[in-house]
Amino acid sequence: MERLTLSQRAPGRWQLGTVTAIAQETPRVKSFRVRLPMWMPHLPGQHYDVRLTAPDGYRAQRSYSVASSPLDEGEIELTVDRLDDGEVSAYFHDVLMEGDEVEVRGPFASYFVWRGESPTVLIGGGSGVVPLMAMLRHQRRVMPDAIMRLIYSVRSASDVIYADELGDDTLITYTREPPEGWTGHTGRIDAALIAAAGVASGIAFICGSNAFVETAAGLLLAAGFAPQQIRTERFGPTG
Ligand SMILES: Cc1cc2nc3c(=O)[nH]c(=O)nc-3n(C[C@H](O)[C@H](O)[C@H](O)COP(=O)(O)OP(=O)(O)OC[C@H]3O[C@@H](n4cnc5c(N)ncnc54)[C@H](O)[C@@H]3O)c2cc1C
Repeated sequence: MERLTLSQRAPGRWQLGTVTAIAQETPRVKSFRVRLPMWMPHLPGQHYDVRLTAPDGYRAQRSYSVASSPLDEGEIELTVDRLDDGEVSAYFHDVLMEGDEVEVRGPFASYFVWRGESPTVLIGGGSGVVPLMAMLRHQRRVMPDAIMRLIYSVRSASDVIYADELGDDTLITYTREPPEGWTGHTGRIDAALIAAAGVASGIAFICGSNAFVETAAGLLLAAGFAPQQIRTERFGPTG
């Protein structure tokens, strides 16, 4: 198996990043480019912690995956799904503007990372596509001949994040409302969709809600993947 020569370093200290660009991906999802004074290259799949501090000292901290390739030197992209009563995601969407500072620390995690393995199948539900996009973007730039397929489950066409960047390497399924004239897969991820990706061996990365991850992992096991070939990340409620 080919390996990328990406080394891992200890995560940095808290630092104040500057938001340089904000893109509206879907009605409830925005991407934030954050320039970091103490930037270091991450491994695709890693996340940063974000910390908000209120004037009275109250703090809220959440994790957000890096969506960008580590080749984007000096900055990271975070993509945030706005939850209706979400403390931190609503702050990102409703308060944070270009030029503002935001406190972050990272990159974290050593298990849910792509190190150049091929073939690879990525399975994402909703905003679970974010760390997978970092893998896909990086693979296209550094190992374009590697086999990497993305299976992406969304509710409807308006929920597709990074729509302009998804090509032949991506299979979408619409669980609620497919776009008009859609002839592809609809409904929840199933064995037929896994088979259609055409990656019967290699490494699988699954990211999404708890239920989504459980379902996708079960389907991969049934398709012949061994547990050690499957890496999972769950964006569950923080409680
Ligand atoms: C390793 C890791 C990486 C992550 N990467 C991303 C990312 O790239 N993009 C992204 O948008 N989120 C990501 N998350 C989720 C993120 O950390 C927060 O949990 C999420 O933004 C909600 O925080 P909040 O403060 O807005 O909501 P909270 O104030 O914590 O919660 C508001 C309400 O929503 C519920 N809730 C909380 N989290 C979720 C959730 N994930 N799904 C459904 N309901 C929830 C809570 O139970 C509560 O009822 C990641 C989580 C982890 C652990």
